[in-house]
Amino acid sequence: MISAQQALERLREGNRRFVSGVRSVDAIMGQTQRKELVAGQHPFAVILGCSDSRVPVEIVFDQGLGDLFVIRVAGNIVAASQIGSVEFAAEQFGTRLVVVLGHSRCGAVQATVDELQRPTENQSRNLRSIVDHIRPAVEGLLTTDLRRDPEALVQQAVRANVRVSANSLRHGSGVLQELIQRQGLRVVGAEYSLETGVVDFFDGVPVTSQ
Ligand SMILES: [Zn+2]
Repeated sequence: MISAQQALERLREGNRRFVSGVRSVDAIMGQTQRKELVAGQHPFAVILGCSDSRVPVEIVFDQGLGDLFVIRVAGNIVAASQIGSVEFAAEQFGTRLVVVLGHSRCGAVQATVDELQRPTENQSRNLRSIVDHIRPAVEGLLTTDLRRDPEALVQQAVRANVRVSANSLRHGSGVLQELIQRQGLRVVGAEYSLETGVVDFFDGVPVTSQ
């Protein structure tokens, strides 16, 4: 299995291809690998992304079958089942890179901002559980001048929410903590821009590799 650093490079290269409109032969020919993958998988990265239809993970990183272990949930939040999924991939497949991938103009983050500014009474309990996970990342920002600038507020909230999710994965599981300390597992935070297609890795990435 490749290291977290090598995996990060592979994602960066894939995103550069996506942005420039070039697809790798591996990704295009992915279907031909289907038979080889029946016996087992070795995904080189775990991605926790948002369910937003505009951020399909394999496409924005130009990857094919068997490359990425993807968890998608509105607002890329971390609850017990997301932590369990990451533990599963890291332990079963030896995957060493975990990316929390938020994105600009995230509807779940926007909904949380709206809910905090104008609470509604009849929100479904299930939807509320998503908002409740994003709430801590947004609350602090509402005490700053950002509350008067709706666009900047959501921009900052998206990043704050990615950081909260990444920290929940780093510190919310004894299994992952052990893998981070002893096995070179790394959790990084990134934001995908709907406007440019670029993924910016902004959290937990060593400065030298930027
Ligand atoms: Zn979203």
